Amino acid sequence: MVRAIVGANWGDEGKGKITDMLGESSDVVVRFQGGSNAGHTIINKYGKFALHLLPSGVFYNHTTSIIGNGVALNIPYLCSEIESLINRGVPKPNILVSDRAQIVMPYHILFDEYEEERLGKKSFGSTKSGIAPFYSDKYAKIGFQVSELFDEALLKEKVERVLEQKNILLEHMYHKPKLSVDDLYQTLLDYRNMVAPYVADTALFIHNALKEEKTILLEGQLGTLKDPDFGIYPMVTSSSTLAAYGAIGAGISPYEIKDIICVVKAYSSAVGAGEFVSEIFGDEADELRKRGGDAGEFGATTGRPRRMGWFDAVATRYGCCMQGATEVALTVLDVLGYLDELPVCVGYEIDGKVTKDFPVTAKLAKAKPVYEILPGWKCEIRGIKNYADLPENCRRYIEFIEREIETPITMISNGPAREEIIRR
Ligand code: GDP
Repeated sequence: MVRAIVGANWGDEGKGKITDMLGESSDVVVRFQGGSNAGHTIINKYGKFALHLLPSGVFYNHTTSIIGNGVALNIPYLCSEIESLINRGVPKPNILVSDRAQIVMPYHILFDEYEEERLGKKSFGSTKSGIAPFYSDKYAKIGFQVSELFDEALLKEKVERVLEQKNILLEHMYHKPKLSVDDLYQTLLDYRNMVAPYVADTALFIHNALKEEKTILLEGQLGTLKDPDFGIYPMVTSSSTLAAYGAIGAGISPYEIKDIICVVKAYSSAVGAGEFVSEIFGDEADELRKRGGDAGEFGATTGRPRRMGWFDAVATRYGCCMQGATEVALTVLDVLGYLDELPVCVGYEIDGKVTKDFPVTAKLAKAKPVYEILPGWKCEIRGIKNYADLPENCRRYIEFIEREIETPITMISNGPAREEIIRR
């Protein structure tokens, strides 16, 4: 059985916690897209961790953690992340890296930086992890697959061929130092030695695991609104954030994905530029950010302050729909207990017309939020274990959101720890 955990919004919805929690009942946890450009914050018995590349299953002995073929693999980053877990007392995880995954090259990171520098004020707010140049090269067919590290003749020839092009860009477009073939080739041989213990045909591994009726968990990064096709293009990420892409990025049949858990945050937040209709500013935003603590303040990878907003039911309904959500985990609800009233964005007004359908970016830029105001519950809800014990206005908020997003809310997270969860 395959389950996917994905985000309905702009990312940072708390997928890490839900994956860590559901990792317990999974045999295999797979990252299928993205790279080390986003992070999950996980709090468990070993402490507090920000994982960027490793799947959230790494804390369990019984799980195999897979970096799928769809991931942008930064090899030194992977190794240092594994090492940092072991240094903090986590048992050595079982990790497999797809032999078809492609490698984030040192120049991808350079080009990411140089391009943002060149764009100046018009930059994308990239995390500068090399992700956009990486996926560009993958589809331009000049990327390096992990398997290619093991064929020295091929590797040498390809390094020469690719650097010829990269050096023209470095010299004439960015006016930066050129790269040497020998240095890059040597770096790739080092990468080979670092990654060799983990390399496997992971699609075959998953295929066999499914035959043995094992439970597979696909772990998404970011959320629907950062998807290159269905998100707020061009302020999106460079690989698909949708559960459907799990089939490709992990190498499994689409019909195997039976359960799609969409993680939805009880209010809105976004890191980086892009349209954000229900965004709030000033003291109101500062207060929410401060109350959000770890969940509110800074992106796990970027350390950038998050932009804050009220719950956006238009974006979230669309987010769940494009994910094909079968259920929703509503997170970070505990943070909202201080509010007298909770505005929920239930429509967008565009050119004088109100719509509940999420539009293309050009129209989104003109959208004004239409709010419905719900009463607050004015108390702490952490520690509550049963749905019926939540304050009435809190349940009203959950049930209102559930109707608006047209997806059952089966889990409510009322604190960052693994066990702080209310199941309905
Ligand atoms: P992800 O990228 O979707 O995994 O989300 P992040 O890990 O970047 O952000 C979620 C943040 O919210 C982390 O700091 C979590 O520890 C925290 N968090 C998750 N669920 C809850 C919750 O229910 N309540 C609170 N207060 N924090 C939570």
